Amino acid sequence: MGRRNIFLFVLWPKARSKEAEMIDEISRRLRILGTCEVAWPRGEWIKRFKDFYGFGSSFMWWNKYRKCGRGLFKVVVVEDVAPVWFQSEDSRSRVMQMDRNIHSLKKHLRELSEHSNVVHASMSHIETDEEIRSLFGVDTETFVASLESGSLETKKPYIPYALDVIHKSMKKRLRSMVLRFFAAVRRDSSPKAVFYHDIGLKWTPMGTPKHLFFAHMRLLRPGDMVCFDDGFRGIWDARDELKAANVHPVVFIAPALVGGKNYLTWDEMRTLQAEYGFSFQSHTWSHQTLAGEFNHELPPPDEGRTEQWFRREIVLSKDEIERRLGKGVDSICLPVGHFSDSVLERCRVAGYKYVYSSIPGNLDDGFLRHRCLAQDLDERDFRAVLNGGMNTLAKRYLKMHKTNDK
Ligand SMILES: [Zn+2]
Repeated sequence: MGRRNIFLFVLWPKARSKEAEMIDEISRRLRILGTCEVAWPRGEWIKRFKDFYGFGSSFMWWNKYRKCGRGLFKVVVVEDVAPVWFQSEDSRSRVMQMDRNIHSLKKHLRELSEHSNVVHASMSHIETDEEIRSLFGVDTETFVASLESGSLETKKPYIPYALDVIHKSMKKRLRSMVLRFFAAVRRDSSPKAVFYHDIGLKWTPMGTPKHLFFAHMRLLRPGDMVCFDDGFRGIWDARDELKAANVHPVVFIAPALVGGKNYLTWDEMRTLQAEYGFSFQSHTWSHQTLAGEFNHELPPPDEGRTEQWFRREIVLSKDEIERRLGKGVDSICLPVGHFSDSVLERCRVAGYKYVYSSIPGNLDDGFLRHRCLAQDLDERDFRAVLNGGMNTLAKRYLKMHKTNDK
């Protein structure tokens, strides 16, 4: 007996509003052997896409990721008992035998969905083998056998998210204990810079609920500094309350993000600067990391970190903000906190007075300044941070955020 004609349909997250209809359509034409939900870890989508399709630049897959959405996606495994073979090139220009039935069904499913290219199908044996290996790490025969014997748990996501959630809440509790313990035994109430991403959760999941944010503000002492990274719109919405609370934050912005969905516009920033006492400083041009691994949720520079790229990120971002807002920029904040000695040197040469890190500690007058991430702390933890509870973690953060130059 020859090899069975097994194929995969992949419904990326944004296809799933039409999932029932699509699966119905598939079942009318082919034998469905099983379906399976798959979750890829956040931050790994670009890498996984690249691996799944086996070609293309990171930028290309970043675009695909934006179009297909994040979250769980569905894999539908089918068998075609009467394939109609034709010879064609795949997306990597390899000539192979493809099944016309799959080809036309894929086209039909794509017409059903509201977004383009959110449905994928393997159309040849070679593609099926490669994709099953990429998704599940086994060969097609093994995979189908476990699917048909019911040993593959297809009711639950292939990579359980639940574990991740439990892990996070344990980590949070542990952090809380550490913060309060060290604030008590090594009390250090020197001024701190605390940083957030936004007020409210409307524009980014990294935002801080409004009541919590203003509860923090009431605990600040003279000399403490409030920073926002990225320039999300919630601080525009809360501008009058900030003014009333006498909070004049420093906001680190990346020109490439300005005016985008969820982000402040130049006009708004001019108003916040002139009438609300905000200060705007550089957060690089594109918000891509300056050292270490690239942030997989953003388009990495296709050429890598070239001189020209560094110039745009560090020097031109400063020039652009100064030109747009008509005020000097003397500070830069490291995206995702990552840096190296040569990155610091580049910032110094570019004329920055301060580089803001994500390493906790006191706000002293050094070139590399400490900041404490406060966005998800409850009031007790926040008070502990102001009293130095996070300072003990500085070494750990330094290890995580600093890359050695080769
Ligand atoms: Zn940022």
